[in-house]
Amino acid sequence: MAVREQDVELIVRQILSEMGTKAAAPVTAPKAAGGAIPKKARVAMLTELGKFELQEHEIPALGDDDILVKVEGCGVCGTDAHEFKNDPFGLIPVVLGHEGTGEIVAMGKNVKKDSAGKTLSVGDKVVTCMIFKDNPDITMYDLNKQNVGGADVYGLLPDDDIKFNGWFADYIVVRGGSTIFNVSDLDLDSRILIEACAVLIHAVERAKTTGILRFNSRVAVQGCGPIGLICIAILRTMGVENITAVDGNQKRLDFAKRMGANKTVNFMEHQGIEALTKAVEDSFDGHLADFAFQCTGNPKAHANIYKFIRNGGGLCELGFFINGGDAVINPHFDLCAKEITLVGSWVYTLRDYATTFDFLKRAKGIGLPLAELITDRYPLEEINEALKKNLEMTGLKVAVINK
Ligand SMILES: [Zn+2]
Repeated sequence: MAVREQDVELIVRQILSEMGTKAAAPVTAPKAAGGAIPKKARVAMLTELGKFELQEHEIPALGDDDILVKVEGCGVCGTDAHEFKNDPFGLIPVVLGHEGTGEIVAMGKNVKKDSAGKTLSVGDKVVTCMIFKDNPDITMYDLNKQNVGGADVYGLLPDDDIKFNGWFADYIVVRGGSTIFNVSDLDLDSRILIEACAVLIHAVERAKTTGILRFNSRVAVQGCGPIGLICIAILRTMGVENITAVDGNQKRLDFAKRMGANKTVNFMEHQGIEALTKAVEDSFDGHLADFAFQCTGNPKAHANIYKFIRNGGGLCELGFFINGGDAVINPHFDLCAKEITLVGSWVYTLRDYATTFDFLKRAKGIGLPLAELITDRYPLEEINEALKKNLEMTGLKVAVINK
């Protein structure tokens, strides 16, 4: 049956208008259910190394393009922990927290839509994104020009005037021009995990550019911290069924299975790279991996992973968010003779965010226990403990929950 172009346009218009009316609410009126908006509210200000102080400040008057969000929760990121412990860029005093989410309680009269064109209303649940520009050629390489360098970066840079510019707070003021998404259709845990998942969505997109990663590939995922576990979940939602997880921690490997890995290899049980390679090979019924994801920050793990990959296979290296030192590989044996296609991946782009929302829904739909990645939850009052817990690295994801 042929559908005329006008009909398609009509259908699209209809769908869009239905989406738009879904959560219609008065644009400027604060939501009654959440109570009246207080004049003052708290932010967790990092005032010295290793110490957040809860400070009460007056919530600034909203501009016509601004949005006031009541914070529901925020994940603790490695970046927050790094700043808490070392303040490498001399940002103190600063309000941190960029993996946050909450509910719109008030907005300026000019605010109509989010960065994806979805309608925004009071009562909607939102997240911000550190990346401003939708430029496929960059991720975060040009910090000052392309994305995270602007004033409207939340939970990373100090803002002495506004103060409510990080998610470790009761409220956050999202200024006009910021990247914001309406994610009212995701539960709180999923919303807190968005940023971490976007990193993996990006890595899998990078992996796909090799043309080697397919639904029926044999895939090895090395490292079962949050990054590796989310990687497995994404592969699973793509229909990849032949996944071997490699780690030295049996508890994490068991979790990897629930996230979608069908085989696991505990490297503590295998002495030397030959034995370990044999174990990976056995997990694929006598085959090496078609594709591998390296999700640890250990240079030795980078060197090892080439051995797990078949001739003509592919590798995505995404474990080194920060400089973890040099890895020694043999370019002849590991790369050239095997004709490995290697891609590196770092952070994410704006477009990965939209894909991430869909991934989270699909993961929930097929019963992957993503919410269990959040192993430790602290109220805002205990933010110092939350950061210390993150630095201990005994759990997976630590989150501050404002309820
Ligand atoms: Zn983060």
